[in-house]
Amino acid sequence: MVQMGAGSIRFASAWVAMLVALLVAAPASAATIPSACHAFSPESTTYAELARQPSRWICRSVHWADRQPVAWLRFDAAGWRETGIPKSFVSRVAKFEQLDILVIGADGTAKATSLKTGEATPRAGGSVFAAPLPEIPADTQAVVIRIVHPWNAGLLAEGKLSAKKGGEGWPVWQLVLAAILVGLLTAPPIYDLVLYRTAIRERFVLLHAALTLALAAYVMTITGLSSLFLDMSVTTHARLDGASITVVVALATLFTADLFEPYALSRRMRAALRVASAFVLLVSGTAALFPPFLDFTAQTYFYLGFLPSFAILFAAIAQALRRGSRMAKFQFVAWSPIILCGLERIARGLGLYGAPPFVDTLLYFTLLSEVVVSVMGIADRMMTLKQQRDTARAEVRMLASLAEHDPLTGLYNRRAIEPHFSTLAKEGFTTFALIDLDHFKAVNDQHGHTMGDAVLRAAAQALAPDEDTLAMRLGGEEFLLLLRGRKARQRAEQRRQALSRHISRQVPTLTSPVTASMGVIEGAIETLEAETFADLYERADKLLYEAKMAGRNRTISEKLTLFLPRRKDRRHQEDRRHAA
Ligand code: GH3
Ligand code: MG
Ligand code: MG
Repeated sequence: MVQMGAGSIRFASAWVAMLVALLVAAPASAATIPSACHAFSPESTTYAELARQPSRWICRSVHWADRQPVAWLRFDAAGWRETGIPKSFVSRVAKFEQLDILVIGADGTAKATSLKTGEATPRAGGSVFAAPLPEIPADTQAVVIRIVHPWNAGLLAEGKLSAKKGGEGWPVWQLVLAAILVGLLTAPPIYDLVLYRTAIRERFVLLHAALTLALAAYVMTITGLSSLFLDMSVTTHARLDGASITVVVALATLFTADLFEPYALSRRMRAALRVASAFVLLVSGTAALFPPFLDFTAQTYFYLGFLPSFAILFAAIAQALRRGSRMAKFQFVAWSPIILCGLERIARGLGLYGAPPFVDTLLYFTLLSEVVVSVMGIADRMMTLKQQRDTARAEVRMLASLAEHDPLTGLYNRRAIEPHFSTLAKEGFTTFALIDLDHFKAVNDQHGHTMGDAVLRAAAQALAPDEDTLAMRLGGEEFLLLLRGRKARQRAEQRRQALSRHISRQVPTLTSPVTASMGVIEGAIETLEAETFADLYERADKLLYEAKMAGRNRTISEKLTLFLPRRKDRRHQEDRRHAA
């Protein structure tokens, strides 16, 4: 099983490598028109004022965030020479107050139309929305988009014009992949719940189910698949996007705290993971919902809120790896790509630079691979837990068996038999034969304790337990046989006599043969059921004492029947022939 676990780690790494390769090979998205320059200004600034100050325009793909309330994107006519007249403005789904479209004519005058938030519609194929442009005359110099209170730098960095009315969608294969991804994400929670009910009642299994559902919601949102089913405004969509990834990261952090083996993380690290989880929910979760008490600059907090979680996740995985945790290997493979993608996203969200759209696709694949790898991790953990449980059970069995066996002879001890005596009687073990070695003290005295032990072991072997004969050592040199089946008393007698022969074979240096005396009680089933072990023991001991008194090396037996008016009469002595 350990080998299989190692195999699954290798498989997981190969899987991730394959996905990354697939993505790098993915074609860049079709022809859209990127903005030539962008600018930031106070609300009072007009386009005419900005146009006169070329130094205020940033014409590189950097610095996409500013604390100023208005952002400007300028698309020069040169940009659409190849694609044809633009028909729509497309960008990342994000909250904004107002979007003005200015069409700059040949004479430099601007014709403006306005779009309030809610008038733009999210669309399938990425977390994007499209806003229709007015008619663009052939002599247009530029199209300028003025965005009031942009909550997300991505809204600006990824803002483009498209020659298509509804904007550029995803190719079908990408949409299908997204749908498959969501489909795959719904399987683990079912698997988890079944696992939780049947095999491992551990909280991390439930956390994983919740985590995967949150991931499914996130993927539905960021792929825009949600807009196929729900009629959402851009703002609602943006809220869902931010809230779902916040929940994903919070749950992933909690999940890690629970999933890792007890030895893998220090108490402090586990506590830090929980605190980071609460932190991301509080900070990023709040900013993601655009509450009225926060202004548009609060989006910075949304991104920064993830950093402690990512840092502590990394630290926790590193600590667990150092401590030799298997789960850490799985989590490392599962989460490294996501954390790297996440950090890239945070950098972009903070407006440091822009990035081509395939970088977003990368995130979807890393999410999918996380799910696959962590399902394998859970399966692996389950196997380890099962192994541990099996080992524990085997240990309990071994201890129980140790407690039920006499260490010197390997026979059962009294504790092993007495509690089950009535069951054994029902199963037919109704002959109770108590055997005691004769003058055993003399053996010890003459030959020493070690040889005495050898005699006891040989005696035990001669008792030859089988499925109809249970043998136990009651203590010292006293043994008990419980027999069932035909001729039980005779079989007990044969064993008593075999003792002497076997002992002299096994311990040839003995100066005189060792014999044994025996007291036997044969009982009707009904009688024996009513008798307790202790009662029978007492009676057999009396018979044994009689045998000793009568000269040893003999058996005295008694037959019990249901009605025993004259028990004494039924007692008979035998085997006097064997008396020494
Ligand atoms: P009797 O014929 O009346 O039964 O005489 P006996 O000497 O066998 O009886 P007694 O009860 O006086 O002595 C039993 C001896 O068994 C005493 C003790 O030293 C010895 N003995 C008890 N347990 C062990 C053991 O585990 N190993 C050895 N070597 N001797 C033991
Ligand atoms: Mg004895
Ligand atoms: Mg004794």
